[in-house]
Amino acid sequence: PFLHIFVNEEKKKVVAMKLIIKNVSFSYASVRALDKISIEIDEGEIVSLVGPNGAGKSTLLKCIDRILRPQKGVIFLDGKEVSRINSKELARMMGYVPQSTIEVFPFTVFDIVLMGRRPHIGWRVNEKDVEIVAQTLKFMGIEELGARYFDELSGGEKQKVAIARAIAQEPKILLLDEPTSNLDIRHQLEVMVIIRKLVQERGISAIMAIHDLNLASRFSDRLVMFKNHQIFTIGKPELVLNPKNIRETYGVEAQVTNGCSNKPHIIPIAPV
Ligand code: ADP
Ligand code: MG
Repeated sequence: PFLHIFVNEEKKKVVAMKLIIKNVSFSYASVRALDKISIEIDEGEIVSLVGPNGAGKSTLLKCIDRILRPQKGVIFLDGKEVSRINSKELARMMGYVPQSTIEVFPFTVFDIVLMGRRPHIGWRVNEKDVEIVAQTLKFMGIEELGARYFDELSGGEKQKVAIARAIAQEPKILLLDEPTSNLDIRHQLEVMVIIRKLVQERGISAIMAIHDLNLASRFSDRLVMFKNHQIFTIGKPELVLNPKNIRETYGVEAQVTNGCSNKPHIIPIAPV
């Protein structure tokens, strides 16, 4: 069912995109949130943003999706400045899943996920859009929620629906703000496996802010570790997740052992 969703009619391979973040700084009025951030992200990569609360992870995701406009620096998507791409085109390229989704109107889950198709459709929904929504719900394992009202769901169910909406959008870059924060351990793993599958099979890239260092370690190609609104270090999990870096960024004494698939496994011991 998975392949069926994403192989589009022309059987064209999805053209992946390279994202370049160059020297980006952002402040909320007088509050500094990002200080000279530069990252290059390749197609087919999962990059996780880690680091303490308030470090600037959510702000960076919002700058990438153009919800916020950096005061300094530029972001290029496939060689084009993000600030010059029109909204509909940008929405076909990037899907953003916010940390919490507040829907005030009583939409059904099906309607919410269908909204993800908006950048692809004109004034009317066609059969293909409905089919993609149905397949995406199935793919996320939430087809039984289709007729339910979004505002009546649990936090974890809402999180899965928000991810489904972004997937139905068929973006080349998926931006996720703490996609596992409301989920139990089974659903955390399901969501991470789904993200990895999407990235591998479609050659898209995913950038996510995530607090769970062990999930980040296991499922990311690279980590960007933030401290004080700057990049502290960036690289493969085994290079970033060591006791020294964890102490210096989080102020936590941690043990790092060899975990699943030889990835670092972090055991926080005590604040220092
Ligand atoms: P993270 O996602 O890493 O926890 P954020 O990007 O949310 O961090 O926040 C970075 C900094 O910007 C923090 O100091 C935070 O208090 C501040 N900040 C975030 N959102 C706002 C806002 N809407 N107005 C003012 N300051 C904000
Ligand atoms: Mg955040």
